[in-house]
Amino acid sequence: MITRSLSALARALAAREISSVELTRLYLERIARLNPKFNAYISVDEEKSLAQARAADDMLAAGQAGPLTGIPLAQKDIFCARGWLTTCGSKMLSNFVSPYDATVIERFNAAGTVILGKTNMDEFAMGSSNETSHFGAVRNPWNTECVPGGSSGGSAAAVAALLAPAATGTDTGGSIRQPAAMCGLTGLKPTYGVVSRYGMIAFASSLDQGGPMARSAEDCALLLNTMAGFDERDSTSLDRPKEDYTRDVEKPLAGLKIGLPKEFFGEGCDPDVMKRIEEAIAEYRKLGAETIEVSLPNMKLAVPAYYVIAPAEASSNLSRFDGVRYGYRAPEYADLNDMYSKTRAQGFGEEVKRRILIGTYVLSHGYYDAYYLQAQRIRRLIANDFVEAFKQCDVIMGPTSPTTAFRIGEKASDPVQMYLSDIYTIAVNLAGLPGMAVPAGFVGGLPVGLQLIGNYFSEARLLNVAHRYQQVTDWHLQHPAGLD
Ligand code: GLN
Repeated sequence: MITRSLSALARALAAREISSVELTRLYLERIARLNPKFNAYISVDEEKSLAQARAADDMLAAGQAGPLTGIPLAQKDIFCARGWLTTCGSKMLSNFVSPYDATVIERFNAAGTVILGKTNMDEFAMGSSNETSHFGAVRNPWNTECVPGGSSGGSAAAVAALLAPAATGTDTGGSIRQPAAMCGLTGLKPTYGVVSRYGMIAFASSLDQGGPMARSAEDCALLLNTMAGFDERDSTSLDRPKEDYTRDVEKPLAGLKIGLPKEFFGEGCDPDVMKRIEEAIAEYRKLGAETIEVSLPNMKLAVPAYYVIAPAEASSNLSRFDGVRYGYRAPEYADLNDMYSKTRAQGFGEEVKRRILIGTYVLSHGYYDAYYLQAQRIRRLIANDFVEAFKQCDVIMGPTSPTTAFRIGEKASDPVQMYLSDIYTIAVNLAGLPGMAVPAGFVGGLPVGLQLIGNYFSEARLLNVAHRYQQVTDWHLQHPAGLD
């Protein structure tokens, strides 16, 4: 049961082979037993999960089931869920029980899915390894000495360790794709504006986007069907006709034009990782695709531009955590100003403080033009590079991450090395494009992820391109050893 696809689980539920309560108990039992080893979940609430499962069983009995009704899912702890502790990986919100549901949660609840628990993450989604979490590092199920990637590392580890059939993540600069790659999962970061950000705790609002993390592209398509859609409560949500993201999955790939940016295939990537990527691309040629070289000349500016824009937005977004209305408050202080500063000094971790300092600096009078405005110009150039590339190809491919999962502690004291984990993913967020990570083999027992990048709103096409590859490969079906 625990290795089945979402559609197979839905069939089992429909055929009464198992009830949602039984399926939920199965996962809760595994979480109780195995989570201490991986630290993938921050909170679990069996009673709440089982109440949802009972309601799902009623829907199933009444013939009102949708494609995901009764399926338990792990939710990243960045999504507010009513009555659930919602920490965003931070001490600042370590006592925050959300009084409302994020739109993503509301949609999953309406679809009859069950929240299995809230997953661990880098504090406020700032990180590439999950080591910045106030709740401790997450361990990669493929090798517990290694990180699972970040910031959606808890979601990735939960699915890889078979502690959830699928999960949600968010991606500001790579946080769905990079942990998916490092844990052997399929992850999709949609076009900016496709999934509502309402109730998704803000990091860098012009870049943040929620999306699915699962074993297969088909599973991702089913999850995206529930997650996507216009929301008037998010001013950047796009009012577009509803799509069925599964509709094109079986389309043949003959004639598909794959663009290979020369900037992705030069220096910077581990040669063994690159071998797996080239093998995957060779597989696509066998499926009838053609490859052409394209160029993203401003690619090298993506990481520097991102580390001006994202901290700038974060410094503004995080100003709301002041100890007054909700969340952590310093226990002792002299006056109001002292309360603010002690609360923020104690409530935020080191990486978050670093970003607030950088962000405040680049937005300050005198530096705004030199840094923030310049970074915004670079952002436009990067987006234009993709516009040019997509005149010549349907999809861009390359690595998701330059390395496989690294060791816990290996990059923790070197922020720049950590930031470079996202060299292949960040430009996609700056341009607002959809991107995917797809399992493409192993190096030294650790998974490698192929990255697919599509034009705006090409999610259905990307899912199709990933699915056809998954029909002829079984990388996405492999599981770490020792999970019984
Ligand atoms: N690793 C990047 C950062 O630290 C991206 C994180 C994300 O996508 N949330 O900002």
